[in-house]
Order: sequence, then C-alpha cells, then structure tokens
Amino acid sequence: MSLKDKVALITGASRGIGKAIAMELALMGSSIAFISKNPLHVEQTEKMLQNLGVRTKGYALDISEISQLKKTIDDILKEFGQIDFLINNAGKTEDRLLLRMSEADWDSVMNINLKASFFMIKFVGKHFLSRNYGKIINISSISGLTGIPGQANYAASKAGLIGLTKTVAKELGPRGITCNAICPGFIETDMTQHLPLERKEKILKEIPLGRFGKAEEVAKLAVFLLGPGGDYITGQCFIIDGGLLA
Ligand code: NAP
Repeated sequence: MSLKDKVALITGASRGIGKAIAMELALMGSSIAFISKNPLHVEQTEKMLQNLGVRTKGYALDISEISQLKKTIDDILKEFGQIDFLINNAGKTEDRLLLRMSEADWDSVMNINLKASFFMIKFVGKHFLSRNYGKIINISSISGLTGIPGQANYAASKAGLIGLTKTVAKELGPRGITCNAICPGFIETDMTQHLPLERKEKILKEIPLGRFGKAEEVAKLAVFLLGPGGDYITGQCFIIDGGLLA
C-alpha cells in the first residue's frame, strides 16, 4: 500500500505509539509533520524520519498551549501545502486516587488529552472541509471504556475522546471526513515502563495473549484505518488490548 502523496500531522510523535505511527506512515511514503513537547526529542525524531527519506518537520510545542496551536497548524500548511491525516496521539497520565487528585492533576490531563485534541480537530478540520477530505484518528484508551482506579482524570479524558470522535464523525462525515478512535490496552512504552512489577504481573495474568502490546502493533492498526481499508469506517472505537476486555 502506498500513501505516498499524503501528509500526516501527528501529535506526540517523538516517543512510543506516536513515533511508531510516524515510522509506519513514513515507510508507506507519507510526509510527516509532528508536534511534541521536548525540543531534543523533536530534533532526534526529525533526523530519524529524514533518514527514511521522507519529507518531515517537527514542531516543539506544548499542545495544551491552545493559543499557539493555530499558528503552528498554519505554519505546517505553509510548509507542506496540505494535511490529509490528523492523529491526536499526545497524552499523559497523572494517576492519583480520586480523593487525592488535585485540580491541577485534573486540568493538566484534560487539557492535553482532550481539550488539545478538540482544538486540533477544530483548526485542521477547517482545512479538511475546504478539500472535502481528511482522516482523523484519536488515540483513546481502554481506561476510557472501563475506568481504572487512580485514573479518574485520564479515564474521563479518554472517554471524552470517544464522544468527540463520534460527534466529529457525524458532523464531518457528509463532507468526506472520517474520524475514529483507537483504544489501546497496555502497550510497552515510556508510559507503562514505570508500572510496579507486582501490578504488571497482575495485569499480564488478565491478558489472554499473555503480553503487553507493541507500539508498532497499534501503528499498523492506525495505518490500516488511514489507508484505503478505512475509507468506509467512521465513528468507531477500535480496541487493541490482547483480549483484556474480551
Ligand atoms: P509516551 O511514550 O509517554 O509518549 C508521549 C508522547 O506525547 C511523547 O512524544 C510526548 O512528547 C508527547 N507529549 C506529551 N505531552 C505533550 C504535550 N503537552 N505537548 C506535546 N506533546 C506531548 O506515551 P505513549 O504510551 O506512546 O502514549 C501515546 C498515546 O497513547 C497517549 O495518548 C496515551 O494516553 C495512549 N495510550 C497509551 C497506552 C500505553 O499502554 N502506552 C495505552 C492506552 C492509550 P515529548 O517526547 O516531547 O515529551
């Protein structure tokens, strides 16, 4: 499959799942614009993608700074001429039991995981509407479907992303724009690296496939949806969790 003439905009592409999606799309020939927070990570990822021979540019920005997002998207459109795919992937956890969770814990997770995704869709959506084309993927989580103790903020943000996905699919579908969510289970990235061993072992026992997923496996699902296989799929939420919620 070639996605050669496509331009993807990915948030959080400097590590983990976002980076794997960027790599998979680059291997299909897509151009990659991406936004991540840490300038050093941005530089490293840009070099790695350049080595694959694709057109790429990274933008170092905290996506919760909404006032900067619009300008960055305008810069990306000037640089690449178009955006075909938007992947809202950047996310964070700030886990704490409900009664200990502060307003700052709540706000920081909601702002990055949910609010920034809404504004990305709003700003990039205008461009998609002008072309009657665009594919959006929001990276949600099984936490948004089942809830996980200690993740009131994170689970709410990820459940919110599913509601956002379905609404966008209905609002923008008539104009040729698709929007889907991916709900990963436990995937081997920096985000899950620091789980206490005891907790990891307990989770592993509950996963029928007996292992955490790989970022590349999530990326392949995303690329399927962005490719021709996803042309008639919208408003859906795809669980990729080794059978945990089966
Ligand atoms: P990760 O390894 O921690 O990487 C997070 C990425 O997001 C990094 O590139 C980071 O950029 C970027 N980022 C974080 N905050 C940002 C901000 N304020 N502004 C811009 N960029 C920001 O995470 P991951 O495991 O790949 O997770 C990716 C997505 O999948 C997240 O939405 C997460 O909630 C979701 N997810 C993950 C799992 C899992 O088990 N790993 C399961 C379900 C869902 P820097 O490198 O610059 O910090």
